[in-house]
Amino acid sequence: MVRTLTVLGATGSIGASTLDLIRRNRDDWRVIALTAHANAVELARLAIEFCAEIAVVADEAALPALRDALAGSGIAAAGGESALVEAAARGADVTVAAIVGCAGLAPTMAAIEQGGVIALANKEALVSAGEVMIAAVARHGATLLPVDSEHNAIFQCLAGNDTAHVRWITLTASGGPFRDWTWDRLVAATPAEAVRHPNWSMGAKISVDSATMFNKGLELIEAHHLFPVGLDRLRIIVHPQSVVHSMVEYRDGSTLAQLGPSDMRVPIASALAWPGRMDTPCTPLDLAEIGSLTFRKPDEERFPATRLAREAAQAGGSIPAVLNAANEIAVATFLAGQTAFTRIAAHVEDVLGSYAPPPPACLSDVFDVDREARARARAVVAGS
Ligand code: NAD
Ligand code: MG
Repeated sequence: MVRTLTVLGATGSIGASTLDLIRRNRDDWRVIALTAHANAVELARLAIEFCAEIAVVADEAALPALRDALAGSGIAAAGGESALVEAAARGADVTVAAIVGCAGLAPTMAAIEQGGVIALANKEALVSAGEVMIAAVARHGATLLPVDSEHNAIFQCLAGNDTAHVRWITLTASGGPFRDWTWDRLVAATPAEAVRHPNWSMGAKISVDSATMFNKGLELIEAHHLFPVGLDRLRIIVHPQSVVHSMVEYRDGSTLAQLGPSDMRVPIASALAWPGRMDTPCTPLDLAEIGSLTFRKPDEERFPATRLAREAAQAGGSIPAVLNAANEIAVATFLAGQTAFTRIAAHVEDVLGSYAPPPPACLSDVFDVDREARARARAVVAGS
């Protein structure tokens, strides 16, 4: 049976991994919409290759270039944030939400409102909208499948079990490229060093998040919404080899873990084929070759992000959206070479300490919180 597919963020790292799998299984899929921020040439190339119905650039300034590149192809071109939402609302059977940041929230919500399968990579959207997104999933009968490797692992380990029997859910963290760096070295860490992840090849923002451990902090909040067993049952462990993607321990002492190569095509394939399975071209795990798997406690002195995220999740309401927005601004500032690596968490903590907006009642409240937190973060960063 042919299924329809939309990829939000088709030109990114997750977008490329998704389309690589689709390319190998062309007969099973019909592509509705592919979207990008501003890379019109690459987006047009993908839209033509995959015979998409429509290609959308979020940045309207890139629309003329997209139109040119698609001329004569019969593929519709559109630009701007509302066009992005309209494309997501075309109602594909499966929507891969792979935009980076809270910028993905509106189109992801539009896809959820159509009630299909949402393969969610865009963790910032769920962190920011939290209960509002989870309620929309239930209201519209959508199916939210986690693509983030840890959450996909947990989803697989929970299959067929009652969450009432869960003792712990343990998220594994590689620890990032700086896990063994001293504080003095961290202070001087450069953007180029931060995006050089030892195990995974990813977009710049998540690579920095991985280096600060904000990625794991965001993932803790993501897990809290996806698997509501209570925050006190969610733990983080550093596992430098990134082979065990996460674990679930049950009350009888059984721990189930999902292992696999550090290749996002594995969790993406799991979501695309769910509840079935599909082939991937990934090199199979060779545990004898890997030899040993190690685990250690996270160090929240050098990497305070997981503490900040846990506190934000405990506070709930709008606070995780504030944390996310402040982090997005701090990361962009660091990538632009305008703040030190170790200031990222400090900026986020300053913004969190500056105010506490009330819980959002609806999506537009979430956007308001996100907007104000960004403004405050810019002020904090500029004033430091
Ligand atoms: P990326 O930077 O490689 O790609 C991001 C995509 O979003 C691109 O297509 C880009 O054009 C688009 N985009 C960026 N800004 C936009 C905007 N303002 N409006 C509309 N579109 C915009 O990022 P990535 O590494 O593919 O990550 C995507 C998401 O998946 C992130 O939320 C990330 O945390 C999550 N994720 C990524 C990985 C990974 O291995 N890359 C793993 C787990 C989760
Ligand atoms: Mg992850």
